[in-house]
Amino acid sequence: MGQAFAQNIKRNESSIAYTVHALKAVMKTRPEPGVTVKDIPVPVIGDDEVLIKVKAAAICGSDLGIYNYTPAYSKMKLPVVMGHEFAGEIVETGKQVKGYSVGERVLSESVKACKKCGFCKVGMSNLCDESTLFGIHTDGGFAEYIAVPYKLLHRLPEGMSYEEAALVEPLSNALHFVKDITPFKSGDFVVVQGCGPIGLYSAQLFKLGSARVLITGLSVDTVRFKIGERLGIETLNIQKESLEDRVMELTNGEGADVAFVAVGAPPAVKQATEIVKKRGHITVVGIFGKEVPLDMTWIVRRELKIVGAYDAKPENFPQSIGLISSGKVNVVEVLTHRFSLDEAEAAFRVALDKTGGKVEFIP
Ligand SMILES: [Zn+2]
Ligand SMILES: [Zn+2]
Repeated sequence: MGQAFAQNIKRNESSIAYTVHALKAVMKTRPEPGVTVKDIPVPVIGDDEVLIKVKAAAICGSDLGIYNYTPAYSKMKLPVVMGHEFAGEIVETGKQVKGYSVGERVLSESVKACKKCGFCKVGMSNLCDESTLFGIHTDGGFAEYIAVPYKLLHRLPEGMSYEEAALVEPLSNALHFVKDITPFKSGDFVVVQGCGPIGLYSAQLFKLGSARVLITGLSVDTVRFKIGERLGIETLNIQKESLEDRVMELTNGEGADVAFVAVGAPPAVKQATEIVKKRGHITVVGIFGKEVPLDMTWIVRRELKIVGAYDAKPENFPQSIGLISSGKVNVVEVLTHRFSLDEAEAAFRVALDKTGGKVEFIP
């Protein structure tokens, strides 16, 4: 991080019009659960970077893993400013920045990829071997300002709010999971397991593809069930009703065409194998804190397919912007809470307790 933040003094001497010296940020500073709100120097941008005044930044499921410091994030860089879902206004541009200027409203992709490896060359920078992520490897968007390479930027269309724009990244993830990874056709029966924000976005995308969708959750998910219902998606509380019974009843005992596991709970994957039909497809997008036990013989004899899906490709960003601005996907219906950076603890509490949908910081 040393290089990411230059000293205030240097900045004061420079000729730029911009004169803020310190910024507030929500940081991960120690290898233990929790977050810290700190004042840190404003980052000095590189020649190919812009400085963004963050207007909205959303908490992701992965940020909860970081908050709890689960094993999946034990190799992250500390200290670091968290957050990779953000949008804001450009307040400064580096010398080599092309096509963007001060005052423009932008959002950013979350993966800084090498652009040279085999995956990057075919547009799959989500699988880049050398990539770094905002909020894990380099300073992220839970802050008043962030430095971003201009090549990761996307302009906000007129009429798109910053609150919506900060949700383009998670929608891009859902779009990759659903459109690029999960084969389904009109009329297919799809079970989305987990009604967190990614589950709710993915369910909307399956519906958009004319699938019949059932989304599941637990008793704790009352607010999320209501969001699902408002979006016209059938819901099921698996603590109150048997998912397997409902699926079999709705499919004449055959099973679902697709199960989409949008939770990091191992039993959900096992259950997915039990509710899809023979030759059925299972997409898994949850991040798991431990290994997942499965009955392989059952999977073999039914010729099931289990596929992982991770992050988003660059092309998913303009696609998501289009889906939001055309009104085809409603990202804001899922947004239930807004907090200042100082209220980080309360914001994370809502997200961790699942008492809301998407939670945003409005710095
Ligand atoms: Zn995310
Ligand atoms: Zn690469």
